[in-house]
Amino acid sequence: MNHIPHHHPGPDLLLAYAAGTLAEAPSLVVATHLALCPRCRAEVAGMEAIGGALLSDSSAATPVSTGLLADVLARLDGPPLAEAPRRRQVPPGHNPVLPEPLRSYIGGDVDTIRWRRTIPGLHECELSCSGGAVRMMRIRSGMGMPQHTHHGDEFTLVLQGGFTDGSGHYLRGDFASTDTSVDHRPIADDDGDCICLAFTDAPLRLTGRFMRWLNPFIRA
Ligand SMILES: [Zn+2]
Repeated sequence: MNHIPHHHPGPDLLLAYAAGTLAEAPSLVVATHLALCPRCRAEVAGMEAIGGALLSDSSAATPVSTGLLADVLARLDGPPLAEAPRRRQVPPGHNPVLPEPLRSYIGGDVDTIRWRRTIPGLHECELSCSGGAVRMMRIRSGMGMPQHTHHGDEFTLVLQGGFTDGSGHYLRGDFASTDTSVDHRPIADDDGDCICLAFTDAPLRLTGRFMRWLNPFIRA
């Protein structure tokens, strides 16, 4: 449960997150990694401090329009409280599988997810986010996913169990980032189901010999 992540988002991704330029869908995956990773939390805090210092320097030197200032302040403040997602109380002594902010998106912990079987050994649940497709995935213990590559980026964050692919072994909190150059076949560890949060900015493309026919049935 207290695994310290070994696989992290790249610096460009953390910088885009810190600058607030990342869309909601990939931001959710990065923010959930940050909840489990002290190292990346410190890195993002450092980036935000530098960004804040630059912002105050430039605003002292150059007059800015009221509209721009209001826009910047709105970004710094985040969404108004009235729009904050509802939170469910976690009973004392119970360690949730899903950290915030993911738990609020789902409206509870893993036991509240409405899973849908997509292919044998894989259950999924799509989340409602702008800027790409985000879904929860539950891969049956010991199962291999179809071999696939991507038209765009894919970020996968492990929340329970683990999986292995050609690039390494991923456990709770580990962040796997793949792009069009990667053709991989993740295999879940055999000591329990693997639950992940996954973002894709373009549909997966199955590449295994017998899996191509499934492509039209799998959405990003
Ligand atoms: Zn990290």
